[in-house]
Amino acid sequence: MNIGIVGGGQLGQMLAQAGQKLGHSFKFLVPPGECCVESLGEVIRSDFLDQDALAEFARGVDVFTFEWENVPLATLEALSHFAPMRPSPSCAEVAKDRIQEKKFFEAAGLNVQKFAAVSCQADLAAALEHVGVPAMLKTRGQGYDGKGQQRINELSMAAHAYAQLGNVPCILEAFVPFEFEISLIAVRAKEIAAPMAATLFYPPCHNKHINGILHQTTVPAEGVSPIVLQQTQVALEKMLETMDYEGVLCVEFFVLNTPVGQQLIANEMAPRVHNSGHWSIEGAETSQFTNHIKAITRQQLGSTALRDKSVMINLVGVIPPALNACQSLNEDRSKHIQNVSVHIYGKSPRAGRKLGHITAVGDNAQRLADRAFNGGE
Ligand code: AMP
Repeated sequence: MNIGIVGGGQLGQMLAQAGQKLGHSFKFLVPPGECCVESLGEVIRSDFLDQDALAEFARGVDVFTFEWENVPLATLEALSHFAPMRPSPSCAEVAKDRIQEKKFFEAAGLNVQKFAAVSCQADLAAALEHVGVPAMLKTRGQGYDGKGQQRINELSMAAHAYAQLGNVPCILEAFVPFEFEISLIAVRAKEIAAPMAATLFYPPCHNKHINGILHQTTVPAEGVSPIVLQQTQVALEKMLETMDYEGVLCVEFFVLNTPVGQQLIANEMAPRVHNSGHWSIEGAETSQFTNHIKAITRQQLGSTALRDKSVMINLVGVIPPALNACQSLNEDRSKHIQNVSVHIYGKSPRAGRKLGHITAVGDNAQRLADRAFNGGE
């Protein structure tokens, strides 16, 4: 099939690398500026709202997907008139607004923290009354990697925090004193040859952030109650059904241990492949990228089972000197050195930018990943 990907970052790169192995070809729609998919197919560089460019991008494409949900909804909808968009534009719409997203989680039976909408300064007092402090004030849309949010420890900080966010529509959320953070990655496919849709889950991923950016993912996450996990997966499966979802979806949770037991509090979702699933290239029987391509082309999904304990560390801002030997990469932009798989995306270095990642698999995955990341014993 000829697959059109909206976006041209590392997620698009890894999707196309996986899809080419399944025999598919790729076309990309990317905004002006740097991208990392040039060697993987035809690239249409354009503003997302240019109708002529959308028509040119759509020419010859059998199915579309997106690697970034902050694309204008109008773009996804316009493209879906040329060929199916999977997941559908309405799935991206849910994730664009944190209030909508939280209501959607609640309706599916997932736990969410207390929250309230803040549309103007005047809403703040009532929102704080409902949610209490400490609280997190976040922009309703366009936030990622911890951007667009302010912690409010006491009431007197609220007006300043709101002004810092530009007085735009926000959500006020109760601060969750969580033990740790996990993500659940699901993939749902309406396989051509099967009567019913199939939903599979990857094992839970334990995520650690530094400055709001994902630093490390460890799989499987330890300390998650099997019963709570199972209940959460049932709710997630229901949510995917409601959306008639096709492809990979990730939901991030706070793990909260309360006197009455453990709770998984749904924080946010990404209707796409996700950074906390990169380990699956080496650590799972079938990677999130391969399964997303299988799902959007309606083929039978591959097993999401874990091969062995996996640790993924992001390379943010700079490539550590110990990994400089990775300058010559194969066509997958990856290399196996010091018993870890090194993926370099080919982006120019900039503070806070994800330039690559490493994954170690096996009993000693943490030690191997740390050694490669830190350069020696
Ligand atoms: P987000 O952009 O919502 O993923 O938030 C980025 C990070 O900020 C999360 O991974 C948490 O570490 C922290 N955070 C966000 N919201 C909350 C909250 N309500 N309570 C506690 N920590 C939070």
